[in-house]
Amino acid sequence: MSFDIVIIGAGPAGLCFARSLKGSGLRIALVERQEEAALIAPADDGREIAITHHSQRLLRELGLWARLREEEIGALRDAMVLDGNDRDGLMFRHGEAGTEQLGWLLSNHAIRRAAYEEVMALPEVERITGARVEAVRTGSEGAEVVLDNGDTLRAPLLVAADSRFSETRRAMGIGAQMRDFGKTMLVLRMRHQVPHEQVAWEWFGHGQTLALLPLHDAHASSVMLTLAPPAMRELLALDDAALEAAMAARFGHRLGTMSVAGPRCAYPLVGVYAKRFVAERFALVGDAAVGMHPVTAHGFNFGLLGQDLLARELRAAHAAGQPIAAPALLARYERRLRLATRPLYLATNALAGLYTDDRRPARALRKLALGAGARLAPFRRLVMAGLTAEHGGVPAPLRRLRPRIPA
Ligand SMILES: Cc1cc2nc3c(=O)[nH]c(=O)nc-3n(C[C@H](O)[C@H](O)[C@H](O)COP(=O)(O)OP(=O)(O)OC[C@H]3O[C@@H](n4cnc5c(N)ncnc54)[C@H](O)[C@@H]3O)c2cc1C
Repeated sequence: MSFDIVIIGAGPAGLCFARSLKGSGLRIALVERQEEAALIAPADDGREIAITHHSQRLLRELGLWARLREEEIGALRDAMVLDGNDRDGLMFRHGEAGTEQLGWLLSNHAIRRAAYEEVMALPEVERITGARVEAVRTGSEGAEVVLDNGDTLRAPLLVAADSRFSETRRAMGIGAQMRDFGKTMLVLRMRHQVPHEQVAWEWFGHGQTLALLPLHDAHASSVMLTLAPPAMRELLALDDAALEAAMAARFGHRLGTMSVAGPRCAYPLVGVYAKRFVAERFALVGDAAVGMHPVTAHGFNFGLLGQDLLARELRAAHAAGQPIAAPALLARYERRLRLATRPLYLATNALAGLYTDDRRPARALRKLALGAGARLAPFRRLVMAGLTAEHGGVPAPLRRLRPRIPA
């Protein structure tokens, strides 16, 4: 079977990429190992995704935003960073950024559902679900993907969006820098007595890191707790009543009583950065290219940015009658994505390392950093610019007018 592009992975990045090519005239095969029923009604994976202003604009352009229900959209008005036993934290206020809010919070399963609905409506996308990839190869003639049902898919370009542990990346011989933080993150939706007032918390406590992401309901938040795996195993063995008491205590009872309102989802924390984003007739998008530690909430934001960069390159080349897998095009995509993501990837890893290190020098250093941050208005503005920028972190010289995606 022949196509113009084969995409492996129908997660948020692969789906948004397929949707970004709507109306381009390119025929696409989208290969996913999950069955279609699981893509139409994705399971709640506990993740609440913080969305920047740039990402919100992209989600609107792609038609996903209109498919989200009102109660699935949380407003991220302000953010607060706390260290140790501090009562008052470093505040990042929306007013300083000149916007009504710093960002939005969307459930990952709602993003996946909305993205799949959009892609289902595209006649140019053939969805091949419940399929396993047996082999991939690319060469000067094109790319080939062999499936376990015996079918072979052929196209001038192969794109892998198959997660941070991408098997396709490995099969293509592309290595990745991986940083295993040796910690587990529990993500849990909870109701709480004290309203959140649309303020997100990042709390670097002693022996634990906590985050609170405000949801649509004023008394419900997504709680994220990072612990060493043995401590996490003990916590997960508790029944709901004991877990609720433990979480209220971990939050120093600042939120009053707390109750479980969603599934318990635990994630091992591993940051991944592919050594290359492209090869002959091949490109990586989403977490397969850049898999961020969640502390700076940028994984999907970068996934959206990357798929948009690549889709715009492909649309422009195809419209001009140029080959879509030209090495210069792929190299340009790689350069732009690297420039936009590498600094924050490194800074995020450094931050995650510093804030989960309870030795005295690290504690002293972060106190100093937060103290300086609190006094330094330019520092605060810099952090907020990352959330509220309209250009998604792409450096100014690389920003130029690009073709719009049809609605
Ligand atoms: C706890 C947590 C909190 C997060 N919070 C934020 C946040 O606040 N903001 C933010 O921007 N990001 C956040 N992220 C990151 C965000 O969730 C990811 O960046 C995003 O989901 C990645 O999407 P993806 O499509 O690249 O990969 P995935 O979501 O991993 O999807 C990959 C898809 O490929 C399929 N697949 C895999 N292998 C194969 C194969 N061989 N053949 C066929 N199909 C295959 C899988 O079934 C899956 O459907 C968070 C992540 C976590 C874990």
